[in-house]
Amino acid sequence: MAVLVIADHDGAHLRDTTLKVLSAAKALSPDIDVLVYGAGSATVAVQAAKADGVRKVLTAESAGLNADIAEDVAALIAGLAASYDTIAIPATAAGKNFAPRIAALLDVSIISDVMEVVDANTFVRPIYAGNALETVQTSDTKKVLTVRPTSFAAVAADGGSASVEAASAAADFAGTRFVGEEKVTSDRPELGAAKVVVSGGRALGSAEEFHAVIEPLADKLGAAVGASRAAVDAGYAPNDYQVGQTGKVVAPALYIAVGISGAIQHLAGMKDSKVIVAINKDPEAPIFQIADYGLVEDYKTAVPALMAALG
Ligand SMILES: Cc1cc2nc3c(=O)[nH]c(=O)nc-3n(C[C@H](O)[C@H](O)[C@H](O)COP(=O)(O)OP(=O)(O)OC[C@H]3O[C@@H](n4cnc5c(N)ncnc54)[C@H](O)[C@@H]3O)c2cc1C
Repeated sequence: MAVLVIADHDGAHLRDTTLKVLSAAKALSPDIDVLVYGAGSATVAVQAAKADGVRKVLTAESAGLNADIAEDVAALIAGLAASYDTIAIPATAAGKNFAPRIAALLDVSIISDVMEVVDANTFVRPIYAGNALETVQTSDTKKVLTVRPTSFAAVAADGGSASVEAASAAADFAGTRFVGEEKVTSDRPELGAAKVVVSGGRALGSAEEFHAVIEPLADKLGAAVGASRAAVDAGYAPNDYQVGQTGKVVAPALYIAVGISGAIQHLAGMKDSKVIVAINKDPEAPIFQIADYGLVEDYKTAVPALMAALG
């Protein structure tokens, strides 16, 4: 039977994340539909219809869906579930919010953070902050998965020619209301999708230093900026920069960790990066155990030298 992939988008563009979840879906079934919900769904649906392997695109908008209210999104998707045996959701903040709710509505278990599809009922997922991988097999007839996008290659963004149709959404849930949002605006690439990430840790010592040291290096490399939880908790960097078990999971081509010790909770969010570079003045720092290239030096000397070398 078919798979329903829930699209991740910004109201104008389909995110790469969706193309990666589509690749996980392809390992499950040749019949893949995509749901694009929320403001701008018509525009984004046109892009989703072109993605490789998509059979049909469904769209839905309402005040609650446009505001990503979990009750509304979950009700919509649970209402569509009869036609699908698997619902594949990107493991983003929004996806993690509504996915377990859908599973509960359907009275099945959620399988979170899928990193590999073994077969239609068997999946690999990380546990203990990524220090162990467990293979789980479900006997649920309907499967609700969140998929870790960084574990899958994206399908081609074009080549497909799926049909687009509107899905009927239920009335908005009255118990939750969207009040407002504060967005961090940045011209830098998005952390989850960036090819290069430069992250700073507690060593930076202040927000001013973080801005002065980490951001210019990131800009020089066209990189996204990340941070350890210690740097976030101390107010050096905003919360959505956090990389790790309780932050974002990234797997860029190059990850540069500056003044980060390499606690297991941080490694959980970046150890699948292709090349890891660590700058730390403590040769015993655990980050050096996973770094491909390590420099034992004060970042105050190392980063300016790196900047100068980059020209
Ligand atoms: C449930 C739970 C969830 C967590 N989730 C996360 C998470 O998602 N992400 C995360 O990052 N952490 C997370 N943590 C916190 C984690 O355990 C660590 O406390 C944190 O990662 C440490 O951050 P840090 O490496 O910046 O700081 P520290 O561990 O203090 O390391 C700072 C490093 O900088 C080096 N240094 C100091 N001065 C200099 C200098 N001048 N030049 C070069 N190097 C220098 C030091 O040698 C040291 O290695 C979590 C913890 C718990 C309990």
